[in-house]
Amino acid sequence: MLGLMQDRPLALPHVFHRAEQLFGHKQIVTATADGVQTTTIADWAVRVRRLATALDRLGISSDGRVGTFCWNTAAHLELYMAAPCTGRVLHTLNIRLFPEQLTYIANHAEDEIVFVDRSLLPLLWPHQDKMETVKHFVVIEDGADAEIPDDPRVLDYDRLLAESEPFAGRFHVEDENSAAAMCYTSGTTGNPKGVVYSHRSTVLHSLISLTADAAGLSERDVVMPIVPMFHANAWGLPYGCLLAGSTIVFPGPNMTPKAILELLAAHKVTVTGGVPTIWMGALPLLGDYDLSHLRTLLCGGSAAPKSLSEAYREKLGIPLLHAWGMTETSPIATMSTPRSHHDELTEDQRANSRARQGQSVPLVELRLVDPDTGEEMPWDDEHTGEIHAAGPWIAKEYYRGEGGGAQYTEDGWLRTGDVAAADRYGYLRLVDRTKDLVKSGGEWISSVELENEIMAHPKIAEAAVIAIPHERWVERPLACVVLKPGETLTAEEVIEFLTPRVAKWWLPDAVEFIDEVPKTSVGKFSKKTLRDKFAGYTSS
Ligand code: AMP
Repeated sequence: MLGLMQDRPLALPHVFHRAEQLFGHKQIVTATADGVQTTTIADWAVRVRRLATALDRLGISSDGRVGTFCWNTAAHLELYMAAPCTGRVLHTLNIRLFPEQLTYIANHAEDEIVFVDRSLLPLLWPHQDKMETVKHFVVIEDGADAEIPDDPRVLDYDRLLAESEPFAGRFHVEDENSAAAMCYTSGTTGNPKGVVYSHRSTVLHSLISLTADAAGLSERDVVMPIVPMFHANAWGLPYGCLLAGSTIVFPGPNMTPKAILELLAAHKVTVTGGVPTIWMGALPLLGDYDLSHLRTLLCGGSAAPKSLSEAYREKLGIPLLHAWGMTETSPIATMSTPRSHHDELTEDQRANSRARQGQSVPLVELRLVDPDTGEEMPWDDEHTGEIHAAGPWIAKEYYRGEGGGAQYTEDGWLRTGDVAAADRYGYLRLVDRTKDLVKSGGEWISSVELENEIMAHPKIAEAAVIAIPHERWVERPLACVVLKPGETLTAEEVIEFLTPRVAKWWLPDAVEFIDEVPKTSVGKFSKKTLRDKFAGYTSS
């Protein structure tokens, strides 16, 4: 027997129409180079409708990929809605990628158009000729003075909108499983992999951010997503805000601690979210601002150190709310909201719990699996295993099925590459990572690629790169180098060799010369042995 409920698609047009109809009076604030721009959801919605028509006028295919190369702004939010509500696919390009990765991704996704903030043009334009499928580059004015290229493919965003009539009527997306947005994620090796979010996954994920044991977004909240909108949809906060009717504050290009704290105070922000590096940077200045309206400080993307969370608790009265997830999990998978069983704990034990990654949110299932035996580990806080995740907003494969066969199990779970223990309540504690990556300030550095570059040195026999803790960036690379017999080399010479070969922020913070790289039984680099050997090594 079938249920007799209406089969309405879970799709983003609902989120748009709800915001337009119910919350038109609410504000969206964007910080720009010239100050602050404030608009209402009503005016924003008209621009979304104009943009929808503009995409048609420009001949973007009915499911064409719409690239964005933008900061967190109200205009970016227009794209967040106009692309998926017209059946197209929002493709947020990470502004921190290397040129080769950027052009690879734009070509792989077959972006037909790229919207770019004027201040970011100098990062994008030099590579435009390698973006093979892009027919238009649309420049969004943001007060920067970057030169606008004289090229017929370059259009002005505001002019484009002014020349386009607002789309009339209701947006409609028939199939909730159709793609709404995509985001590429770096792998250990090889090319970045495309994660494709559906309308259904996005709507369900947005709803989660409204639940009390997650961020609990409500109409009364003033929310500032600091986490970039090119990183897993800013953790879903922008869509969650539109669904809840929250006021939204976008930080724009200025990500300095001072600028962020000023915005939090001036707009009486209640909920905000960013990677630990942001909160570490802001900590010394907290006393200069009235942040009494803040109720939730989301922190994720890397482990939130206990000391950092406790420093916030001491200074603001609220700790960091630690969350774990990944691009493939949309990204919210767990939240460390305090639970009733924590009430019995001592203050110090509670502080330890806050530093854990927390419990899975509703609809997300997790299991811990021994990567060698495939055996499921008990939740006793001692046994550790790789986290496998399943749920309606967890990826089942990468775009075009490329690059991640090994990451999806036969029974349909995602292998996350994170290793954890869980207590009997399923409250996770991440202890290690099987993927060979270093996460610095929220962005990935591939240890394997770095090793390959180091091993290109004629005097170097072998090199292994591991992450070492860093106060500001959370992790930084340490290069462990084995020289060829009879050769000599200094750490400075290794760095000098690498400098023209990798991005500056990839350069290792330290180089250690070792006799050999420890190996596992099957002859692979044993990074775990190296990490144990250099435990306690910090860089500042
Ligand atoms: P990304 O796909 O770039 O968002 O990165 C996801 C990865 O970041 C996860 O698989 C973890 O390795 C790491 N990560 C995310 N959140 C946390 C957290 N709260 N604690 C520790 N590591 C985290």
